[in-house]
Amino acid sequence: MIQTVGVIGAGQMGQGIAQVLACASINVCLVDLAQQALDSALLTTSSSVAKLQEKGKLNSATNPLPFIQTSTDMQLLADCDLVIEAVTEDEMTKRTIFESLNQICRPDAILASNTSSISIGRLAAIVDQPERMIGVHFMNPVPLMPLIEVIEAKQTSTESVAAVQQLAERIEKTAVVVKDRPAFVLNRILLPTINEAIRVVEEGTASAEQVDQIMTLGAGFPMGPLALADMIGLDTCLSILDLMFVELKDSRYLPAPLLREQVVAGRLGKKSGEGFYQYA
Ligand code: NAD
Repeated sequence: MIQTVGVIGAGQMGQGIAQVLACASINVCLVDLAQQALDSALLTTSSSVAKLQEKGKLNSATNPLPFIQTSTDMQLLADCDLVIEAVTEDEMTKRTIFESLNQICRPDAILASNTSSISIGRLAAIVDQPERMIGVHFMNPVPLMPLIEVIEAKQTSTESVAAVQQLAERIEKTAVVVKDRPAFVLNRILLPTINEAIRVVEEGTASAEQVDQIMTLGAGFPMGPLALADMIGLDTCLSILDLMFVELKDSRYLPAPLLREQVVAGRLGKKSGEGFYQYA
């Protein structure tokens, strides 16, 4: 049984993953390049758990903080049963991390990526025991979203899939196992919608607020596609579309120029304070 889970990347996803694991009394080793990201992940965890408890949205009464160790040194991951990589959506960065994990982790440790789009099979090819590589695509915000899209590469063993399914049950998430194709299922469907919404704004057909109002009031979306893009991170949206365009070779996935302009200007959405909307 998985006792200790390593999480690399303490950004919005890594923080959320660490939080839900620790709330289920699972030991977490959280690693990031930036000490500031680690400090702010612990603060966010405390405030998020307090808010969820106040709203009655958390079954667990566990204080997660004693279950989370942090470090800027990947050696902290040496004895983990499972390591989940959740760093920036950039294949070269992720490849370098899995090369290091291949050296640092126990040979029986399961290695997972929270990537939104990058081939799990290509990442598996980096490590000596490729059958232990798997995709565990958590949704944002992790404490509230009940799904984990589990990605099974050609190399992934049934034991690795079963171990992740068991872990999902312990943290009260539903695991849906799918095949390893560019952007998997959720983003294959979601990102073209976000891209089209951006094109509508770019053409001047409607403002961001109007697009979101139309899609929430008219199509029953719980959140408009542009507010959602800001929440995901516009840099992440651009990386996913770029990858889909290259790998699926279909002009439908060509990122809207306005999306790239926003990213180049540093307007990354909620995490940078501005995207299609302004954030305090
Ligand atoms: P983020 O920008 O909030 O955080 C990324 C973190 O990774 C930062 O703290 C950064 O310091 C750290 N990092 C970068 N390079 C590193 C390295 N070499 N070693 C250690 N830490 C490093 O990004 P995010 O939104 O949390 O996304 C992380 C991953 O999760 C991406 O692969 C993304 O595609 C995926 N994902 C994102 C969402 C979403 O809605 N944002 C949803 C599902 C999956």
